[in-house]
Order: sequence, then structure tokens, then C-alpha cells
Amino acid sequence: MTNHDLAELIFPNITKTIEDYEKIYPERNLKEGEKVTRFAPSPTGFVHIGNFQAAVIDYVMAKSSGGIFYLRNEDTDKSREVETAIEKIMQVLRFYDMEPDEYEYKGKIVGNYGPYIQSERKEIYHACIKYLIEIGRAYPCFCEKEHLDQMRENQEKNKMRTGYYGRYATCRNLSVEEAVANIKAGKPYVIRFRSLGNFDDRFWFDDLVRGKLYLNQNDQDIVIMKSDNLLPTYHFAHVVDDHFMRTTHVVRGEEWLSSVPGHIELFEAFGWKPPKYIHTPLILKQDGDIKRKISKRKDPEASMSYYMEKGYPTEAVIEALMTIANSNYEEWHTANPDKSFLEFDFQPKKMSSSGGALFDLDKLNNISKNVISKMNKDTLYELSYSWAKQYSELLKNLIEMDPEYYKKIINIEREQKKPRKDYETYASIPNEIWYMYDHLFEEYHDYDFQKISNPNEIAMILKTYIEKYYQDSDDKDTWFDKIKQLTTELGYCADMKAYKENPDAYKGSVADISTVIRVALTTRSMTPDLYELLKLLGKERIQKRFAKFYQ
Ligand code: GLU
Repeated sequence: MTNHDLAELIFPNITKTIEDYEKIYPERNLKEGEKVTRFAPSPTGFVHIGNFQAAVIDYVMAKSSGGIFYLRNEDTDKSREVETAIEKIMQVLRFYDMEPDEYEYKGKIVGNYGPYIQSERKEIYHACIKYLIEIGRAYPCFCEKEHLDQMRENQEKNKMRTGYYGRYATCRNLSVEEAVANIKAGKPYVIRFRSLGNFDDRFWFDDLVRGKLYLNQNDQDIVIMKSDNLLPTYHFAHVVDDHFMRTTHVVRGEEWLSSVPGHIELFEAFGWKPPKYIHTPLILKQDGDIKRKISKRKDPEASMSYYMEKGYPTEAVIEALMTIANSNYEEWHTANPDKSFLEFDFQPKKMSSSGGALFDLDKLNNISKNVISKMNKDTLYELSYSWAKQYSELLKNLIEMDPEYYKKIINIEREQKKPRKDYETYASIPNEIWYMYDHLFEEYHDYDFQKISNPNEIAMILKTYIEKYYQDSDDKDTWFDKIKQLTTELGYCADMKAYKENPDAYKGSVADISTVIRVALTTRSMTPDLYELLKLLGKERIQKRFAKFYQ
């Protein structure tokens, strides 16, 4: 009996060969420098920020080179799979305007290198495994879990390297006859790769982030096909898929770095050229004094849905991730504020290669405030409205009551050289504008009057102002002149400089008077431009708000 018999016994229905697949999935017709990258999430229902950062890098590398960015659904771990996960993944990519060139979604395959869902690629993996068995580089392993657990325990006790290698890899020594007999007897098995490596020998590997790395050769007979569903493990699927999908650059988390020797040996066993690798540093967060990995369990910001629910503009999240991805991104972006991140010359070498990358929510909030402040009112209207439709009944209702009025509110101190930075996210908008809506304003009674607290004085300021001075038709200069006249009439100082020189000579200043007006109108002492707010409210509504204080 030969390996061929064993391969036929295990895969009787596999007729296509690797050569057939080489023809079905030919080399891509790439021009010099064009890169093919992929986003390859597992459908767990959760898009982790670290994976998303890798996708952003994939996207930048593919798009800026004129290449291809595709989506591959890595669903070989059926126990972790969540049904709607792929929808979530697509939703995230589309939300961030990172439409893949090739993908499989809702039964439709776009691209010539599919299927793009691993569980639909079983035949391809099986053909490749069949080949490895035939050439003696893969074999069935019948070791039971208890045996493997015991072996591992012994290895740990004896301070040996753990794993299935060398003399521990007992099933590699089974004869074809024994293996065939076991299979015929119905014993469950996995398929393992037969490593020819020697752990004490080193080889070098060029990671595009870390440069040349000297690594120990792989000598583990890693599992390449699982027993229950006959699907491949990640290691094997990665090698086969990235070969036949003709990926040029693999961007993935640094937790995969230790698996590289096994992956390289698998590529070599097939005689294939491995892709280039970019192992991205872990994304960390500051937690008190320590920096730790952003945790799926503990930190809501680990999930991309967090940023969607909070209403961060897509550019803000991408800018924050690019800033920690490449040390010179921030500088480039400051110098080129209007350019898309796709124009940035992303250099894997400029990623931090040790200690991870610190992701700071305060920094993201700052970036986000900036991004929102630079939007024109129509863009902010569109984006905040489409966000609200999905995530905020409150904001949606406010906008729909009177879209033009909403636009005027959000346009205060916008579309100018130094725009106001009130809104951190779309979710923060209601908190900054609620007082411009009478039905919300009427429910709120907590006024933050500052210096002038005497109710009679407040009543007098407001009454005099609305009855004697305020006119809707006044331009800004006239309006301010009138505030000054009011100030003087009531014994306050209209000139801030004079007031500062001699504060005791007055009851207070024009700033105190403005504050009273502002607080009576909004409950707040800090707001956008008062003149604009007054204009938007109009005399009648102003009067109603003031009247509370003197009726
Ligand atoms: N499915 C793997 C993961 O989600 C992908 C790693 C890779 O990009 O190769 O971690």
C-alpha cells in the first residue's frame, strides 16, 4: 500500500488537482507595484478594532497602489460562528466606505477567485491535503484528546517544549497499512502536516514591519484538517487561500507572528511563494498606570459597533487608527488636511514594532471634534440625520420637526476659518442644542446664573432688554451697541478695559449682562454666539423665556 492509496481512501471524491486550481485561479494581471490585500475576519459577530485597523491598512495598501482589496469570510470555526456576523462585517466596511472589490454576500459572488467563504472551499482544501498525503507530507493522526492532554502535561512537567513534534508525534510513524486499518475501523482522526524542520536551525523571514527576523524552524506537525467537519484549520486555510486568491500582502495581528514558521513551511511544501507579511502591533489602552490590550470582554471600545453607535464620523476613526498605525501620519495629515488617507504613503516600517500601539479615546474625541467642526452644514446635516435615523430617536425627531431650523442651529459658527468645536460625536449634538427647542427647554429649570444672582436684578435686566432694546432686525453691530447701552443704563460698565482697571466703580460689566441674557435663554453660561441664538429664537420666543423671571 502506498500514500496514494491512503489519499484515495480519505478523499475518494476529490478529482481536481492543484494544477487544475492553478488554472482556475491564475496569477492576477497586476501592474508593477499593485497590491492584493484581504480582510479575513472570523464571523463571530464582533468586529474588533484591531482587526478593523488591519482592514484599514489593507485598504490603503490596495487602493493607493491601484490593486485589489477583497473580503474573505473565515468561518472554519463553526462553534464560534454567529449568523448575522457577515452582515455586520459588510455593514462596517460599507459604513467606512471601504467596499471590497471581491466578496461573497447574500449568495452573490463578486470576483473570480471565490468562493470567498471558507466553508464553501472544502474541495480546494481537500485537493491540497490529498496532494500532501500523496507526497508524504501529511498523515492522519488518531491521537485522542486525553492522550494529547497527558502528553502536554508531561512536557510541561519536564520543561520540554510543548506540542506534537519529533518523538511526540507518534502517528507520523504509523505505516500506511496501520493508518488505513484505523480509518476502516472508523477511528476518528485529524490530518497533520509532516514537518521536516529542525527547531534548532534558524531561517530568516522578512516582516515588513519588523524587518529581517531570525526564527526557529517549525518542527510541529500542525493539524491542518479538523476531524468533526473536515474543515481546515486557520493555518492551512491561510496558506491555501492566500495562494489561490493571489494575495500579495497579508496584514494581520502580531499574535500570528509565532505561527509564521509553520506557515512558511507549508508554503514551501507546496512550492509556493509566500505573500509579504505585515504583523500589526496590538492595540493597547491606558488603564490607570498600566497599558493593556483592549479587551473584547471589558472594553466597549474594542468593538467597531461602539464607534457607530456613538456617532463618530468615519474620517475621525480612520484618522485615529492611521495615527497610531504610522508615526508620521499625524504630521502628514496636518500638512494635508483635505487629502484622503488613501493618498498617504503608508510605510509598514513606520509601524511601532514593540510594545503595541496606544489607542486613546480622548485623542479620538479631539480628532472627532475637529472633523465635525470642519464639515459644512449640509454634510453635518446629512451625516447626523442618517446616524440619528439608526441610533437616536431624540435627534431624529428634532431634525424632522424642522430640518431647516436644525441646519441653522448647527451652522452657528461653522463654515468659517476657526469653526466652533462643540460636537464630539453625532450623539453629543442633542446635548448641545436641546435648549433651542421649546418643548425641551420648558422641561428644564436648572439655570446656571453666574455673578448676578439677585432675582430682581435679573428680572430688571431681562425686562429692560426685551422691552426697550431688542429688535429682530438689528445687525450684529447695532445689536451689540444696544447691549452696551443697556449695560450703561443699569449702572454696569460697557467697556471691559475700563472695568478691569476699576471694577469697584461699577455693579459689573457688559459680560455679566450678556451672561444673564444667555443663561435666561439657554440655561447655560457657555453657548455658541449669542447674537445668532437670539436671531434664531426670535423676539416672541425670547420674550416667553424671559417672562419666567419677571412674572
Ligand atoms: N480569521 C483570522 C482572524 O480573525 C484572520 C487572520 C488573518 O488576517 O490572516 O484573526
